Amino acid sequence: DIDRLSDLEKLRVLGHGNGGTVYKVRHKRTSAIYALKVVQGDCDTTVRRQIFREMEILRRTDSPYVVRCHGVFEKPTGDIAFLMEYMDAGTLENVLKSRGTFSESSLSSIARQVLNGLNYLHTQKIVHRDIKPSNLLVNKKMEVKIADFGVSKIMCRTLDPCVSYVGTCAYMSPERFDPDTYGANYNGYAADIWSLGLTLVELYVGHFPFLPPGQRPDWATLMCAICFGEPPSLPDSASEDFKSFIRCCLQKESSKRWTVSQLLSHPFVTKDWK
Ligand code: ADP
Ligand code: MG
Repeated sequence: DIDRLSDLEKLRVLGHGNGGTVYKVRHKRTSAIYALKVVQGDCDTTVRRQIFREMEILRRTDSPYVVRCHGVFEKPTGDIAFLMEYMDAGTLENVLKSRGTFSESSLSSIARQVLNGLNYLHTQKIVHRDIKPSNLLVNKKMEVKIADFGVSKIMCRTLDPCVSYVGTCAYMSPERFDPDTYGANYNGYAADIWSLGLTLVELYVGHFPFLPPGQRPDWATLMCAICFGEPPSLPDSASEDFKSFIRCCLQKESSKRWTVSQLLSHPFVTKDWK
């Protein structure tokens, strides 16, 4: 095991995000490769609280469908570093940019793996709240894992429609903008299913579904599209099973949306593609 940050050598930057920077690092003694996410600790208390939440979640998750955390270090500066398994094919966002759109059989495998990850998290009472292509990591074995618990939440009995939001709003479900209209029995878990549906449509058509290709999202346009527009659907080229799966994910009314366990037995996911 790795006891000190000084046992690690930084190789390059893998990505930047809201919270900080992710580096590819090498363990000097064993040459093992890891990803190290460093987030600034000298911030206000709400942000700090969220960092500790992320820490708590990463420490307690243990699933092949969730990126593994091998340790958390607190630097003397207050910065916090998460040592994680390195995913050598990057994010689904990168793969989409470099290799183009995905086939239905790949998307079926991606859907199954993300659903297994969400099944694990939801059973642990964790809502991810930021499922999108750049938070889904892949490796060369084509394993897909959920990462980035930067805005996740451990649910308690009191339901919090969580209006306070620090991530991207683009993948947010209608009930998160407007719980009164779309959130009968609002419980938070269904929001992850909406985001998964949007993610799969994006990976199939090649651009964020609510906007024409290339348009930069702005909050007002998006909120109107998500709350007042029809949910995105797949083009005619998609199979009936895939279309049906996406309809089950992209129900605007959260109580009509399928749950993780229902979706895990949907034909799109259970079908044998060989
Ligand atoms: P943020 O909260 O800043 O978005 P993320 O955890 O999503 O932080 O990491 C930011 C980026 O760093 C990701 O989009 C990805 O490109 C890269 N990255 C993060 N973790 C890993 C990892 N374990 N392996 C490879 N790349 C990673
Ligand atoms: Mg991220």
